[in-house]
Amino acid sequence: MICVKCGLKEAISGGLCEECIWETVELKKPSVVSKTVCPKCGSMMVGNYWAHREPEDAWVKHLQKEFSVNEPFEIDSYSGLTFNNIEDRVTISVFIKLLLDGKEYGPREYTDEFDYRRNFISCPTCNKVTGSYYEAKVQIRGFSEKMSPELEVLAKNLVSMVEKHHERDPNSFVSRVDNMKEGIDVYLGKKKDGDTFAHDTVAKSVCQLVVSNSLAGIKDGKQFFRFTYRIRVLDLREGAIIYIDKEKYIYLGKTSSGVWVRSPGSREDKLIRKGSLEFDRIKDTGEQAELEKFLVINRGGDELTLMNEKNFEQVIVKGNRYKDYTEDTIELLRYEDQFYDRKVA
Ligand SMILES: [Zn+2]
Ligand SMILES: [Zn+2]
Repeated sequence: MICVKCGLKEAISGGLCEECIWETVELKKPSVVSKTVCPKCGSMMVGNYWAHREPEDAWVKHLQKEFSVNEPFEIDSYSGLTFNNIEDRVTISVFIKLLLDGKEYGPREYTDEFDYRRNFISCPTCNKVTGSYYEAKVQIRGFSEKMSPELEVLAKNLVSMVEKHHERDPNSFVSRVDNMKEGIDVYLGKKKDGDTFAHDTVAKSVCQLVVSNSLAGIKDGKQFFRFTYRIRVLDLREGAIIYIDKEKYIYLGKTSSGVWVRSPGSREDKLIRKGSLEFDRIKDTGEQAELEKFLVINRGGDELTLMNEKNFEQVIVKGNRYKDYTEDTIELLRYEDQFYDRKVA
């Protein structure tokens, strides 16, 4: 059969030849190409959401979805976009192929120019960050409600954790850090971050966690609660003299399973498991066994003869733990003129 249109070539489909059939291409395309960019973070509006990760790619992919073609044609590929910033126009080429009975024709290039609009709107995440938005407040406190180096380390860890999460999730951010004499308050854009940090700290350290919430308003038609994670860590200094249930101890340190203490009289070491440790039963006297550094000047059997580096005072310590001691110096805790090893027996 001969083509009904040109009457020259053999028809291949719908009475049309291979050449005339291309004239039936109906390319559906956007009327205008617009891009909405957040001037603060560079994220872009893609459909009804804001793309923060590789926004340009997401925007281009979404734009391509606005192109379609009638059957039996198919879109094969797109060219890159060519911007004419003076006239606010953009040129896009679409490559169309024809599929007939398993045979492929083309592709042929269809080029078009569009009005191009660029808008700058601050995205919802940036609005949150620059405002005083927060979902969770983490209160980092010490045992005696005073600032300590350990609290600073915890706050720093929390901030860097959230900054890391921010790379993947723009809703993770720190909106404020308040340093006070009783501790540090960290305000977070995402409740989940407060939750993660609080539970990590409980697992790794010895602390008390109290979680509370309060109704802060209505967000997206739902009640919006703010959470407070109050973390009170046992940040006693090594050598602190404490009472637990009226029993006197030298505080040696903590592990993830509990705290190590030593009775000054019997010199017996004890691990108090954190599950059985109630902060209300601990009393910090404010007294402190201080660290002193000694040179080992003689050793024999289970005995070491030591000399204080500063005042040349000589001390003899005895015990199994000194049998294989090979170091040249040793640090001991001094409390009421008695010396105590730092290590747990
Ligand atoms: Zn024809
Ligand atoms: Zn933004």
